[in-house]
Amino acid sequence: MNQDTICAIATANGVGALGIIRLSGAEAVSIAQKCFKGANLQEAASHTVHYGYIFERREARGKNQEPGARIQESGAEIQDELVNIGKAEVQFEEEGTINTQHSTLNPEELIDEVMVSVFRAPKTFTTEDVVEISYHGSPHIAKKILEVLVKNGARLAKAGEFTMRAFMNGRIDLAQAESIADLIASENEASRKVALNQLKGGITNEISVLRNDLLNFTSLIELELDFAEEDVEFADRSAMNSLLKNLRTKLRALIESFQYGNALKNGVEVAIIGKPNAGKSTLLNALLKEERAIVSEIAGTTRDTIEEVIHLKGTAFRFVDTAGLRETTDVIEKIGVTKAKEKIASAKVLLYLYDEQDSTTEEVIAFVKEFHREDLKIVLIHNKVDLTNDEIPNEFDRILTEELFPEYCDQLLRISAKEKTGIEAVKNVLTDYVENLKDQESNVIITNQRHYDALEKSLQSVLQVEEAVSSGIHTELLAYELRNALEQLGEISGEFTNDEVLGNIFSKFCIGK
Ligand code: GDP
Repeated sequence: MNQDTICAIATANGVGALGIIRLSGAEAVSIAQKCFKGANLQEAASHTVHYGYIFERREARGKNQEPGARIQESGAEIQDELVNIGKAEVQFEEEGTINTQHSTLNPEELIDEVMVSVFRAPKTFTTEDVVEISYHGSPHIAKKILEVLVKNGARLAKAGEFTMRAFMNGRIDLAQAESIADLIASENEASRKVALNQLKGGITNEISVLRNDLLNFTSLIELELDFAEEDVEFADRSAMNSLLKNLRTKLRALIESFQYGNALKNGVEVAIIGKPNAGKSTLLNALLKEERAIVSEIAGTTRDTIEEVIHLKGTAFRFVDTAGLRETTDVIEKIGVTKAKEKIASAKVLLYLYDEQDSTTEEVIAFVKEFHREDLKIVLIHNKVDLTNDEIPNEFDRILTEELFPEYCDQLLRISAKEKTGIEAVKNVLTDYVENLKDQESNVIITNQRHYDALEKSLQSVLQVEEAVSSGIHTELLAYELRNALEQLGEISGEFTNDEVLGNIFSKFCIGK
């Protein structure tokens, strides 16, 4: 493991009241000390904060030099300069204010007044020595401080390098490292809670219980291999079967939780579809309570796909307003129609809006049957009910429900987007959809595609082990299948993960994390 000292801005880009630069590595304290005027950091206790100044060393004033002229930063000169600066120590008054009046240190050499926190290994984020410099939040100051730190021996950190060190040094497992990225990216309550639970080790704990059980059996099976000639069975096959069954159930529950976890983390994509003028934009506006989407009376003018997000009960719903679905020769609108089809392909919920006076039941039925998918919830929305005074349900709706329920869809709402009646019911359909994704059996929710993939693979290998046990396969092959399953389960926490996967995970972090 590369143990050089790294540094990076830990706070957001741009101007802020304060910014934090973080250093990590064996030389963190000594490098910080070289450009810090204030307390003696080298002797500072761990987890303490110190007031002072970050300064840039400049060349000592020789006979022919202007005050403050820059030095060539060669090693020997830096050493000489250190001695000079040591002599020209800035005087600190008792209360910590700086007195430069009698100082020979050029004030221009000071970069910023800062607070420096010292955290000593191993009780730090990376388990290495860590120093955090809080400066006045100007990007220019940040750049100058980083320059000085680099001149003094630190290296600029790569994306995710602090977290990668925390992982490599055993401070956190891979799932926890990933949850840090999720926590930083969380935009609502639901995603924050899920990420925090994962940071606390939720998924890893769940997985490690399963792995340990499996490991016990693997050891017994491998013991059988050692005694192959004696034809003994150490691992009770029926106990193993029940463990495998248990494992399969838990893995399935975790896998199924991904749909819910994904909805919490990334939101639910909702497509509002219907013929031109069905009232899609009006419904979207009613949901958003703002006039953001284009509302037009000219058929087919809502050409571009507009995406708007609303948060309901802590979940983000991504609404996609799309072009009308009528057949058209208009080139631009055709793009819109294609987009609508693409959007339906990625949507989880489809709100199909129709205006009874401008549609036929055959049209609606044909549409729903064409777009019906196992993982797509289709909701029929009868719009513009303010224009008719029918009994409920009317003949039109009765035909639709008879033809489509429950195989293709199971909900029909009557609304007036214009009068804003029935909008709450639409919102309830959405929040109920997410509620129904929740699997009561699993406390842990999977939110990460990589974990999902590893769990799927684990499930496949568990199924193979089950198959192997029931078909009385040779012990050697059984042991192979078991090891395979163990490896897949170990991928989540990072026990069995190759460098390529790691590089890929940490490169998605931003610099300073
Ligand atoms: P889109 O093409 O599907 O996006 O339809 P719009 O939202 O642009 O609506 C088309 C027209 O129908 C506009 O004049 C709306 O004001 C009108 N409209 C939409 N919803 C209703 C409704 O519930 N009742 C009535 N009477 N008119 C509506």
